[in-house]
Amino acid sequence: MALEDVFKKLVAHCKEYGYVFPSSEIYDGLAAVYDYGQYGVELKNNIKKYWWDSMVLLHENVVGLDSAIFMHPTIWKASGHVDAFNDPLIDNKDSKKRYRADVLIEEQLAKFEDKMNKEVEKAAKKFGDSFNEEMFRETNPRVLETKVKFDELTNRFAKALNDSDLKEIKQIIEDYEIVCPVSGTRNWTDVRQFNLMFSTEMGSNSEGATKIYLRPETAQGIFVNYLNVQKTGRMKIPFGIAQIGKAFRNEIVARQFIFRMREFEQMEMQFFVKPGEELDWFKKWKEIRMKWHQSLGFGAEKYRFHDHVKLAHYANAATDIEFKFPFGFKEVEGIHSRTDFDLGSHQQFSGKKLQYFDPETNESYVPFVVETSIGVDRMFLQIISAAYDEEEIKKDDGTIDTRVVLRLPPALAPVKLAIMPLTKKDGLPEKAREIIDSLKFDFYCQYDEKDSIGKRYRRQDAIGTPYCITVDHQTLQDDTVTIRYRDTMLQERIAVKNVNEIVADKLSLRKLLEKLK
Ligand code: ATP
Repeated sequence: MALEDVFKKLVAHCKEYGYVFPSSEIYDGLAAVYDYGQYGVELKNNIKKYWWDSMVLLHENVVGLDSAIFMHPTIWKASGHVDAFNDPLIDNKDSKKRYRADVLIEEQLAKFEDKMNKEVEKAAKKFGDSFNEEMFRETNPRVLETKVKFDELTNRFAKALNDSDLKEIKQIIEDYEIVCPVSGTRNWTDVRQFNLMFSTEMGSNSEGATKIYLRPETAQGIFVNYLNVQKTGRMKIPFGIAQIGKAFRNEIVARQFIFRMREFEQMEMQFFVKPGEELDWFKKWKEIRMKWHQSLGFGAEKYRFHDHVKLAHYANAATDIEFKFPFGFKEVEGIHSRTDFDLGSHQQFSGKKLQYFDPETNESYVPFVVETSIGVDRMFLQIISAAYDEEEIKKDDGTIDTRVVLRLPPALAPVKLAIMPLTKKDGLPEKAREIIDSLKFDFYCQYDEKDSIGKRYRRQDAIGTPYCITVDHQTLQDDTVTIRYRDTMLQERIAVKNVNEIVADKLSLRKLLEKLK
């Protein structure tokens, strides 16, 4: 199946099974805003807990914070967002569609990469075990020809972005004959800058009202509180502050479902270090964060680092962790060495000293910062797209049946156990509820008595429930139930008193966290 079709199915699945709904749907929706349904909110909460515990519980020197969304407007002047939080936009005059000019060029670069990868794949098939990829990439004339084009465009693009040269960005789009995916034409407007911050007014009357912004990142709340936390928590450098919260960006192009939203959630951690030590810490956090992603078990080949060509005004090193979504490798997390830009700038704009006094060396300095910044929603999309599977099953009569199953990591699955009475009578529902009552303090359980047992299993597969427990007449006699495993569909008879013990290990976040050691 084409990857695009997989993605469409995934979006439909999320809606049909109560994971994600378009916002304000009965009013035809609101672009790039989504609501999380009954299962979506559980998965989201589990993701946040996995991140929070991995930061705050596992690192003695990382503590939490929950700062307000509204902040003093000067903060956004100091951070550079008022002047520089822009994206270059371009319109196609025929389709009237709007694009991010930089994304159009990045897509062209991805096409060159695809072309090279296809050559490599073809050759790998042809030569089998004796294939040497490195040598092939260095010597094959077709790969080399594309590589020259790729490097030329990369350099030209990086320079244009660094110089904020909008005319050159347009020129690149023209020179590489990039067409609008909708109209197929090259009838482009000029490239313009567009500020992504939402603003509103605070105050009761128009004269006294102040223009304030909805935060486009949670990081600034951490920077302006860093001394409060450091002093009251008696934190010693190096230390980190972690925060989870909403962020808002008036994105130019908001397609691809929850990948790019106008209201979304971030999990950010700012790590304060001694100047000069930031690049070591940058390296360490890169490793820690990659491990966190990979411990979910979707396969290491699904992830890669993408080092930034253009460094943001505040950074001296930056990388993205990219995940292979159905629409290609895309960023899920950014790791940035932000120097002392933010604290230095807040010191200047606020007139307050933001220096750290080092009791060991008796010196004061403005710390440098390494940040890890990940979107909850993108993480959600990563998990759900890796988990979605359409499995073909051969039935007894030889025909093929397809089951849709969400192979969610059990510790993150919304419903952990579905408890099902085989029939709605003979005391089976009461027994099922008795079992739920003993399990519900530890796990999110769901009671399900409607439809045939086969249909119920399929419904739970589609939700991603790792275990189904079926209560039948034998249960009333010997206190045993059938447990059915989501991934293998295997079933076995176990004692009710053993259910908790059998599932607890797999369902616990602890097991996932232990992998991070
Ligand atoms: P992009 O290049 O995709 O616009 P970014 O580099 O601007 O992302 P950052 O500012 O580094 O993103 O934000 C950190 C993380 O926040 C991203 O890695 C992503 O997971 C998440 N994020 C950023 N913008 C959005 C958005 N509009 N919708 C959902 N998540 C987002």
